[in-house]
Amino acid sequence: MNHKLTAGAVVYLFTGNLAATLISVIASVWPDWIEYPLGPVIKHRTITHWPYPPLLALGILCYFWITTGDFAFYYALFLPIGWLLHLATDFMSVGGIPFGKPNGIRVGISLYKTRTEREHFVALAMILPCLFFIILTGKITPEYWKGEFIRIWVLIQYALARLF
Ligand SMILES: [Zn+2]
Repeated sequence: MNHKLTAGAVVYLFTGNLAATLISVIASVWPDWIEYPLGPVIKHRTITHWPYPPLLALGILCYFWITTGDFAFYYALFLPIGWLLHLATDFMSVGGIPFGKPNGIRVGISLYKTRTEREHFVALAMILPCLFFIILTGKITPEYWKGEFIRIWVLIQYALARLF
């Protein structure tokens, strides 16, 4: 839950884009989710928590977005961004994430231990300032959200028209 909320709050603060926020929220949970079915194969916080694949993906998508100007690439950027925000919050925990080999030593700044009260406290300390500025910049009013829902609707129609 904390991964989703922190990723959502940060992305919404910087983009004010509800569709982009939803994409990053979904992407922010996958590094842990994928470990359940693949549990016997991959150990917790190894390859899925290695920062280089999402950084590479971010670079490649940025390149295609800039060179083609296709906004599909812009929205795709929020997959590695959500993934990286998950890693950023795990980096703040005692467990940390691997920076060397995927199975190697994990490094973190030990702000909190996973599944403790302190985890929620750290999450709140990140979410509340985001929320404050989101409200301050008027990104949470009914009119603003109406615009965002229209944008999502247009995006869905555009994506369907492009696919079929
Ligand atoms: Zn994780």
